[in-house]
Amino acid sequence: MKYTRRKFIATLGTGSALLMLPSVPGFSKPIFSGDKKLSIALVGLGNYATNQLAPALQETSLCYLNGIVTGTPAKIDKWKQQYNIPDKNIYNYDNFDNIANNESIDVVYVVLPNSMHYEFVIRAAKAGKHVFCEKPMGLSVNECEEMIAVCKKAGVRLFVGYRLHTEPHHQVAMKFRDEGKTGIMYVQSEFGFKIGDPTQWRLRKALAGGGSMMDLGIYAIQAARYSIGEEPLSVTAQEYKTDYKKFSEVDETISWQMEFPGRHVSNSYTSYTTPANRLYISTENRWFNLFPAFNYHGNHGSTNRGELILPDINQQAVQMNTFSKCILDNLESDASGEEGLRDLKVIEAIYKSVESGNKVKV
Ligand code: NAD
Repeated sequence: MKYTRRKFIATLGTGSALLMLPSVPGFSKPIFSGDKKLSIALVGLGNYATNQLAPALQETSLCYLNGIVTGTPAKIDKWKQQYNIPDKNIYNYDNFDNIANNESIDVVYVVLPNSMHYEFVIRAAKAGKHVFCEKPMGLSVNECEEMIAVCKKAGVRLFVGYRLHTEPHHQVAMKFRDEGKTGIMYVQSEFGFKIGDPTQWRLRKALAGGGSMMDLGIYAIQAARYSIGEEPLSVTAQEYKTDYKKFSEVDETISWQMEFPGRHVSNSYTSYTTPANRLYISTENRWFNLFPAFNYHGNHGSTNRGELILPDINQQAVQMNTFSKCILDNLESDASGEEGLRDLKVIEAIYKSVESGNKVKV
């Protein structure tokens, strides 16, 4: 692989490159994306759904916004008008299960606080709908395993909102895994920001499941895993707290190290107090620095051979198109429920290591 600018642009084209895997065994015959657009209902009309997903759904070619599920009736009129949503496709949390009788909805996208993902993914699957679920997929390995099993039993697909899998800089990072097969890799990944409002659900353990680790650390875990292309064998983690009141229920700052089978190592950091936003990959012959690394727009990469000029894509639109294509053409996805489960295995090990002070097997 040549790390020249021209090569990167040529390889990635418009930035909508889809990382496709083989067909999914056991699923019904493909519909083929030329014939149909999938109809999506968003569950939870908070910040991410309102400011990112709904606008992105105006730019998708394989899916469109056609329904909403909300616990706040005051939001309905605005969404109805802005996105032309028919009354029959509007639900609340109580009558949501009736969506099973609504053939005009194909996919339910769960964008609720973390603790509610489990319940709504399972209800959506039992209603016979394919599911997109925001990260973290669940609060525990057990939850994720059950979500996967229920979706499988219902014959529906499950995807996790890993928007960076289709982002051109991160696709470059994923190509480093080839070098890791023959040499040693070091990855540094860190994501943090200063969190505001002390009353928000992200700081309540019952709703968030954890603090910056669940929300932002998951990006750093993802980046290390997909850059190296292996699953970590073990983690060692340390927690730091400066504000015991604000972070009385959840983690504020954690740094951790992961060891991978090919003798690769990663060093990562997440915080709700100290901003951090970087992915650094070093192999025996080259390095790649992405700073910022995890933003919606404006991520910037450089290598030992110079700066990278890559397309700035609409990550959410490409992500939803990619998932839709996987459903329509019956293709595997690298952002499946199993991928969400892998991250929760690592997160559980990190929390165990913080608790015990020991290295913990994943
Ligand atoms: P938010 O607080 O802005 O929205 C949460 C929504 O859930 C609101 O509409 C709220 O009314 C509703 N809700 C229902 N029950 C609630 C309760 N008991 N407490 C609080 N809210 C409740 O949150 P958000 O930023 O939109 O995050 C939603 C999900 O999306 C989270 O899982 C988060 O991790 C994920 N997210 C992902 C990305 C990404 O880049 N992939 C970015 C932001 C958020």
